[in-house]
Amino acid sequence: MNIHEYQAKEVLAKFGAPVPAGFAALSVEEAVEAAGKLPGPLYVVKAQIHAGGRGKGKFKELAPEAKGGVRLSKTLDEVRKNAEEMLGNTLVTIQTGEAGKQVNRLYVTDGADIAKEYYLSMLVDRATGRIAIVASTEGGMDIEEVAHSTPEKIVTITIDPAEGFQPHHGRAVAFALKLKGDLNKQAQKVAQQLYTAFVSTDMSMLEVNPLVETADGKLLVLDAKVSFDSNALYRHPDIQALRDETEEDPAEIEASKYDLAYIKLDGNIGCLVNGAGLAMATMDIIKLNGAFPANFLDVGGGASKEKVTEAFKLILSDAAVEGILVNIFGGIMRCDIIAEGIIAAAKEVNLSVPLVVRLEGTNVQQGKDILAASGLPIVAADDLGDAARKIVAEVRKAA
Ligand code: GDP
Ligand code: MG
Repeated sequence: MNIHEYQAKEVLAKFGAPVPAGFAALSVEEAVEAAGKLPGPLYVVKAQIHAGGRGKGKFKELAPEAKGGVRLSKTLDEVRKNAEEMLGNTLVTIQTGEAGKQVNRLYVTDGADIAKEYYLSMLVDRATGRIAIVASTEGGMDIEEVAHSTPEKIVTITIDPAEGFQPHHGRAVAFALKLKGDLNKQAQKVAQQLYTAFVSTDMSMLEVNPLVETADGKLLVLDAKVSFDSNALYRHPDIQALRDETEEDPAEIEASKYDLAYIKLDGNIGCLVNGAGLAMATMDIIKLNGAFPANFLDVGGGASKEKVTEAFKLILSDAAVEGILVNIFGGIMRCDIIAEGIIAAAKEVNLSVPLVVRLEGTNVQQGKDILAASGLPIVAADDLGDAARKIVAEVRKAA
């Protein structure tokens, strides 16, 4: 689960991390009021969307030369003008995709006088099975670009979970940022605070870009992007409460209502599968046959006809889907139920793309008979390899 910058900073502040003062605002009036509570003379009005690159982003509704989603403002009037231009408009950044994201929330913060920008992030590194800290002197810019062109400027430090964060980890971070004297000490402390926040709240990713050094020698968390491990959310009702559904993919929210595990992907072949492992294998075998899955979808072990219908509708609500592969192993799930669900859904949504179905397991013959008798243009497949080859061929034929 992702959260907004202002929420991330509130979480980090609870662990003592230095963040600039600021207030979230849902209207122009609230934004001006928020700025009025800050000391000035510089205010920053920041679009709150679940995407980075806001500063360099562009608003669809504004002229191309208009400023982006992070705006320095010197007076309350400027804050007002910036809030008016941003609220309700669509911000497009390198992370939003072309469609962009509507800005419904702002964060008005105390402007910092920046001397230098650094990069500091933490993530769960699957290769080492540890939390990795990534530090770089090149903050404020696209870190992927830094990694590509000057990889030596990125330092990675991993932490043994049994050992936890030790003073030497803090010193390694401060050294990587090339900080001296008091700033070096501050960096050690910030790294420790961020690590504690990360572990205590079950984050999966925490990116501070930039961490800044101010003109008066203070380190500040100027931007913060946080994701939490969704499987651990039940342990943190306070974090769960920060969920903003308006920022999430509507299809994924719809799926969670029906207890369907659905994740939208970039390909054109929709998949309806029971069991996460089988769903992964199905996506792999689609790729093996030279095409790409449009989604991951696990309907679960004991899905009802209604659930299968919803799953089908969900897949078809994705305009990129050019074909559907249904791959069901009927263990707890009966193949005849699946067949009925498929037919009900296909009729309801007016199926317009090729459909390949591979059924195996309990009541498989009944299931196949139901599909054959339906009169729908369904291509039957015998096994997974056959199914993948058939759907890829069908989609190519239709294109
Ligand atoms: P992002 O573009 O979504 O990553 O948003 P950031 O919060 O990282 O802001 C983008 C850039 O705006 C930063 O790298 C800074 O250069 C600048 N910026 C943000 N806040 C301040 C501030 O308080 N003072 C100054 N001088 N610049 C700021
Ligand atoms: Mg940033």
